[in-house]
Amino acid sequence: MPFDTDVTIPNPAKGRDTYRSHARAWLQANLPSHMRADSLEYRTPTLQECTAWEQAMYKAGLAGMTWPTEYGGYGLSLREHLAVNKEIGSLLMPESVGSVGKELAGPIIMAVSTEEQKAIFLPRILAMQDYWCQGFSEPDAGSDLARLRTKAEQTGEGWRINGQKIWTSGAAKATYCLLLARTGTVADRHKGLVMFAVPMDTPGITVRPIKSIDGKESFAEVFFKDVEVADSSRLGAPDEGWSAAIRVLSIERATNRMYRPWRFEAELRGLIRACKLDPTLAAKLAEPGVQTRIGEILGQIDGLKGMIEASVEHLETGALIGARGSLSKFYWSECHQAFASFAYELLAQVGPQSRPLARRAKAQFTTGYLFARAETIYAGVSEVQLDIIAQRILNLPKDL
Ligand SMILES: Cc1cc2nc3c(=O)[nH]c(=O)nc-3n(C[C@H](O)[C@H](O)[C@H](O)COP(=O)(O)OP(=O)(O)OC[C@H]3O[C@@H](n4cnc5c(N)ncnc54)[C@H](O)[C@@H]3O)c2cc1C
Repeated sequence: MPFDTDVTIPNPAKGRDTYRSHARAWLQANLPSHMRADSLEYRTPTLQECTAWEQAMYKAGLAGMTWPTEYGGYGLSLREHLAVNKEIGSLLMPESVGSVGKELAGPIIMAVSTEEQKAIFLPRILAMQDYWCQGFSEPDAGSDLARLRTKAEQTGEGWRINGQKIWTSGAAKATYCLLLARTGTVADRHKGLVMFAVPMDTPGITVRPIKSIDGKESFAEVFFKDVEVADSSRLGAPDEGWSAAIRVLSIERATNRMYRPWRFEAELRGLIRACKLDPTLAAKLAEPGVQTRIGEILGQIDGLKGMIEASVEHLETGALIGARGSLSKFYWSECHQAFASFAYELLAQVGPQSRPLARRAKAQFTTGYLFARAETIYAGVSEVQLDIIAQRILNLPKDL
């Protein structure tokens, strides 16, 4: 696909909105209509198409904004990251196929790894030469991650890994797994955990895809049987895996996919546009109950935008996001799940006789509705986020 990659990256010091205007202009000029979920020309993009798109975005200065230049980044601030994300959200482009690398593995590698590891892994993540997956959850360790059993034993030259992960998104395409394993027993809980960058082509790894309710096989079970890795695959000190994992989870809850509220707003506007063009749906739009619900959704989206802006301001002072990530994780997932249900119900009567844009909206929101079932589960279930908010933000007593 011919994307414009001969781009001059603007200097954000030249004006507050310079970078955002650059992102808007580039994305609007380059995003093919067949990759826009609200376009009549939309078709599910292939992995190769998504990869080429993200490579071009990186070359245009729309990925790696906050990463240091020595690792391939643009050495800018979270404000530019947010500015770009607002524009990414406003066009319904495919979800990133490299986000685990760019938003989870990359930041933790930067925080805990050796210079040699940073030089090996980081530029390849931005250039989309590697896909990463996150190997944390296990059949008996999800919300209570400290129950994980996957064992890492030290051998003469490195480590031998045995165990099983589950719900590992993108495992089938991944070249590396950000793996959490333990050196001792489950009774050790948070102690003795160790993080690795495991090459997925290492002998002994089996990936068994799991089909989800939407018919996709986007996650998998991953089995590790006597998997031997060099000590250079270890990220951080052998006993500091838990603190690294908690950092990954707080990033995942707070700043990962920052574009969400702008995307939800684009979805809402697209829904209204499609309804207005279809006589039956236009009549529905005139109902007071429907209008009230749309107003509530827009209010929630605005609240979410405020949360993201506040998080960026907070992080820009050098503070850690900590437990506050749970606030936005809880709020965005619950609000979007409710929005997806509303849209699904509104579009229920769309059939072969309906206008093309209404039929496209139905296909788009049916996929969205099914995936939204998972949004209150992945990156930590809602009940756990409420526990964290109660205990670590509000200091409420544990037992009444
Ligand atoms: C689409 C999707 C993608 C995912 N991708 C990944 C991935 O790439 N890598 C990865 O490691 N994991 C991934 N996960 C796994 C995800 O992190 C776990 O599913 C999640 O942490 C919940 O763990 P669990 O499934 O074991 O459920 P459990 O922890 O068993 O929870 C089940 C239910 O029990 C209740 N519950 C649990 N704990 C509490 C509590 N403290 N208080 C009150 N109620 C509670 C809740 O109702 C909860 O919904 C993914 C999950 C999904 C759905």
